[in-house]
Formats: sequence, structure tokens, C-alpha cells
Amino acid sequence: MDFLVHNTGWIEAICGPMFSGKSEELIRRLRRAMIARRRVQVFKPVMDDRYSRDEIVSHADSRLEATVVANAREALQRLDWRAQVVGFDESNFFGPDLVDVAQQLADSGKQVIVAGLDTDFLGRPFPPMPELLAVAESITKTLAICMRCGNPAKHTQRLVESGDLIVVGAAGAYEARCRRCFEPGAPRQEWLPLAPPATPPETEG
Ligand code: ADP
Ligand code: ZN
Repeated sequence: MDFLVHNTGWIEAICGPMFSGKSEELIRRLRRAMIARRRVQVFKPVMDDRYSRDEIVSHADSRLEATVVANAREALQRLDWRAQVVGFDESNFFGPDLVDVAQQLADSGKQVIVAGLDTDFLGRPFPPMPELLAVAESITKTLAICMRCGNPAKHTQRLVESGDLIVVGAAGAYEARCRRCFEPGAPRQEWLPLAPPATPPETEG
């Protein structure tokens, strides 16, 4: 979102599943801010070391230098207060304090851009994204392409067995799926097509 007035802060949120272009969109917006000669700082969580430690990197290999921090509080400590535009990639990994921190930055006049997963591997809202969406001025929901059927995909399908909320770095551990093809958690052994039950369930009476 390109606001015309630059003396007020705001929060822009970019959310969606993995592979939907959140990092690409974040990088695009930050590059445009740089072209406008605005001072930019972008943070990424230390746990996301899929490709590079001090850059944000999209799946299509678009890159931007980033400050690596453990959580939202550390981002505040390491903030360059001259930054006019502050980005957070993988926002769902900064902890619950990211909501307060983003608000504080926006209240102090900065353009804050948060990009992150809106749902987890079970399809549940991924904290603190829901709160961030509630306080943001602008929300962009990005969709990927379903690897099963080619439809627009809003889910991150886990392909490996694990009950943990976070499994990072394992290549091929996730793919994008649409609502219909999504299998919450690890996939079943066999692909079961969606169909009504052969016999209707018995009703009491
Ligand atoms: P995100 O940050 O949402 O995980 P990225 O910005 O890192 O996404 O990567 C987006 C890029 O990933 C796309 O431009 C495309 O080149 C690639 N890609 C790989 N798999 C898919 C998919 N299933 N749907 C859409 N894009 C995909
Ligand atoms: Zn599908």
C-alpha cells in the first residue's frame, strides 16, 4: 500500500501459506521504499536459517540484507531508530511481543511491514498473525499454487511425520495445498478422494 502522507506510521501485513510469495512481496515493497530514499531495516528470526543467515531470501532467490534476532524484543533493541520503514519476515516466529513492538513502531511514525504464515500445519491460526491482522492498516493475503491440483492454495501441507508446531529447514518437508487437497498434519498413507459416506449415518429416534 502506498500511502501519500509519510508523517504518520502504519502497519501493513502480508500473510498466506509457504510458497505464496510473502517474502517476494516484502522484498518488493522494501526495494520500492529504498528507491524512494527511505531508510529501511528488515528483521528475520534466528531460527529461519533455511538459506542465509543475514539476508531474507525468497524461494525464487530474491534477497535483501536483514538483521537476525531471536524475538521481537531483541528487534526493538537492535532497531536503527533512523529507519523509516521496518520489515519483519517470518513474523509468526518473533513471538507474541511482535504485536506490541509493531504497534509501538507504527505509533512512532514508521511504516511497518509484517510478512508471515497465517495458519500452521494443522490449518490453525498461527499466533501472533491474527492479532497483527487485527491492528494492521492494510492486509494482503497471498495464495500459492496447490501442488496436488493446481488451484489457489491457502494451506501449508507438512509432508513429514512430526507433531511439533515448527519443523524448519527440512528440504521437501512442506508444500502448498488448496482447501480441498489439504490433509491437516502429516498426510495419510493413501490418497482418499472426498466423497459422501456410502451409507448415511444412523439417526437416533
Ligand atoms: P513465501 O515467503 O510465501 O514462502 P516466497 O516469496 O519465498 O514465498 O517464494 C515464492 C516463490 O516460490 C514463487 O514466486 C515461485 O517461484 C516459488 N514457488 C514454489 N512452489 C510454489 C507453489 N506451490 N506456488 C507458488 N509459488 C511457488
Ligand atoms: Zn488442490
